[in-house]
Amino acid sequence: MQNEDYIKAGSIAGEVREMVRGKNWVGKTVYEICEEIEGEIKKRGAKCAFPVNTSINEIAAHYTAEPNDPIVIKDTDLVKIDLGAQINGYIADTAVTVCYDPQFDGLVQAAEEALGNAMSMIKAGVKASDIGRTIETTIKQLGFKPIANLSGHSLDQYTIHAGKSIPNIWSIGGFSLSENSVYACEPFVTTENGGGFVRNGQIKNIFALNSRKKTKNEEADKLLDFIWNNFNMLPFALRWITKECEEKKARELLEILIKKKAVQAYPVLIEINEQRVAQAEHTFIPNQEGATITTKAS
Ligand code: MN
Ligand code: MN
Repeated sequence: MQNEDYIKAGSIAGEVREMVRGKNWVGKTVYEICEEIEGEIKKRGAKCAFPVNTSINEIAAHYTAEPNDPIVIKDTDLVKIDLGAQINGYIADTAVTVCYDPQFDGLVQAAEEALGNAMSMIKAGVKASDIGRTIETTIKQLGFKPIANLSGHSLDQYTIHAGKSIPNIWSIGGFSLSENSVYACEPFVTTENGGGFVRNGQIKNIFALNSRKKTKNEEADKLLDFIWNNFNMLPFALRWITKECEEKKARELLEILIKKKAVQAYPVLIEINEQRVAQAEHTFIPNQEGATITTKAS
């Protein structure tokens, strides 16, 4: 039941995102936050499509908590919380930026407005490059900068990035949205002093299966099966393995799988001028008149 599952995953993800938006996370560790939000997704009958991302300040994306990660949210932090729910592999991907320092309200608002303007123009046949132009124009008119090398994407069953990109800036060429395909749109915004690009950081704490080819190490192959059986090709965190396997051992085995290219590790993405970044994201399915925003607030 593809479409029903997309809609159900979307309504769960949207509900959890609104819970996240309304809550004060200051003083909590990122470990507590990830575990709590992932629990809320599961409680509502979906699986996590990827580990909850808690990317703080100049980290734009791809940070999730390490096992017992002690990093605490401060009242001056700006945190992108990006979460995904899936049912039978049909994914809803959505994000919100939480921030308790009014100094950065404008930045957060710019990401929301860019997403809102993009959502108002979507329907089957609209060019992705025109969506990019709307996002860029909205952000610049508010005095901020879009992140040029991060973009939205098409989604498919058990696949978060299914090959097509919805840019956050105007660009030449590109594709047109097709009816009944599934996409995520996710403007990222930084300040005037930002470079408007992200670079890879050193930290890698999100992983995904690359291939199911055996490694000749019995324990590593067992972990490979565990990953496939539990996460399919979707991203996972070390936290999700250490519930079954002792942490030191899990790190060693994961290292073997990465060396053998059976598993891929994703680096955190950092704004090149180390300026703060805000994000907003929805998943949607275009139709002739407009679109079903699967993750919209109910
Ligand atoms: Mn996302
Ligand atoms: Mn996304």
